[in-house]
Amino acid sequence: VDFGFGGENERDASSIRAFLEEAMTPEETRSQRDPLDLSGVAEPFERALHRAAGESGWLGAPAGTQSVFNRLVAEYDAPLIDTAWTLAGHALTTYASTDQRERFLPLVQRGEIELCIAYTEAGAGSDLSAIEAAAVPTGDGFSLTGRKVLVTGAHKADWCLTIARTRDDVPARHGSSMFLVDMTLPGIAVTRRITMNDWTLDEIEFAGVALGADALLGERDAGWRQMVGAVAAERTGAFHLGFARHVLDALIAHVRTVDGRGRRPADDPLVRDRVTQLSLELDAARRLGARTLWGIERGEPGPALPPMGKVYATELLQRIAQAATEIAGPAGLVHAALFDSPSPYAAGGGRFAWEYLERVHGTIGGGANEVQRDAIAQLGLGLPRTRR
Ligand SMILES: Cc1cc2nc3c(=O)[nH]c(=O)nc-3n(C[C@H](O)[C@H](O)[C@H](O)COP(=O)(O)OP(=O)(O)OC[C@H]3O[C@@H](n4cnc5c(N)ncnc54)[C@H](O)[C@@H]3O)c2cc1C
Repeated sequence: VDFGFGGENERDASSIRAFLEEAMTPEETRSQRDPLDLSGVAEPFERALHRAAGESGWLGAPAGTQSVFNRLVAEYDAPLIDTAWTLAGHALTTYASTDQRERFLPLVQRGEIELCIAYTEAGAGSDLSAIEAAAVPTGDGFSLTGRKVLVTGAHKADWCLTIARTRDDVPARHGSSMFLVDMTLPGIAVTRRITMNDWTLDEIEFAGVALGADALLGERDAGWRQMVGAVAAERTGAFHLGFARHVLDALIAHVRTVDGRGRRPADDPLVRDRVTQLSLELDAARRLGARTLWGIERGEPGPALPPMGKVYATELLQRIAQAATEIAGPAGLVHAALFDSPSPYAAGGGRFAWEYLERVHGTIGGGANEVQRDAIAQLGLGLPRTRR
């Protein structure tokens, strides 16, 4: 079976690399730096890049091309990961009405709007059935009230895809709906909260926001089922593989470099062993990703492969970051934000310490790895459902 290594999808790689090489020059990114944003760059630069990617047809490309694109943008640290297409493409193409599709899809695919997704609440993270935000019917629409937390990019979003209860007499799984909310509407307040890596996640307060009936996305009261599908489709493992390649390459460059005492870390057999092991694991992760994509392109990746890829890649990222900080010693703990000029004392350009902090959340967000392991056990291995 050919899972596509070096095949047709990889042919896109050279044109995507050319696009990123031109857009992400060190001079440009350094001058556009914004350490408070997850992407590390200022909003106008990010918006311009989304439009350029849209013009090149990368947003909304077929799954194979999209996967190569996702892996490479992560490898280049390009702010093309939280595009409206990545975050809401599945929900829009699957659940939107004809009117919504005609209105939003061209804007999203041309990279002309920014969007955030706001599902999480203070009391509803992994267990989203505990959501309390409510959209009360008003006759000609809904009045939305509630507080969403840990939202990526709400401060720069034009639109927000969210979920709220539309019935209070049944559990949220049977009485919630999805909405597309215009972030300029009255009654919306966004507060930025600093993360441990010094960029910000957002809280959104919806205080009786008047939504038209056309804000409803998909079927009323079927929001839970829709959201489960949207979350599963939102993030492919390809981004993780791009980050892993980037940092592992930096680690390989580090261990090859001769230090002040004329030694290379790679002369230590334990270091060679550890770096080689990580390289094998990255190759295995890439093959797992390719196998999943192969299934997706044929309409069915199987229920266990996507969670297997997510668990393996996010934990591999933590192992790479841990190895890099340990091998580099004190210099591996010197931190630099993305696109910052690193201290001369930093190993890996300050990236190893940044990665160590950044990769913590991968195993919690996007479906916690413990929950993914439950899914693998049940759907992949046929083990009994977890007792709760
Ligand atoms: C960087 C970042 C970006 C985010 N962006 C967004 C966004 O754009 N939009 C959005 O809506 N949300 C976003 N989130 C929120 C994210 O989806 C939640 O963090 C995630 O759902 C986990 O919820 P929680 O943080 O409340 O942790 P909890 O659910 O409280 O989990 C805490 C711990 O308990 C474990 N755990 C939970 N349930 C189980 C279980 N059943 N069995 C075993 N262990 C379990 C988890 O693994 C974790 O270690 C983001 C979070 C982060 C960190």
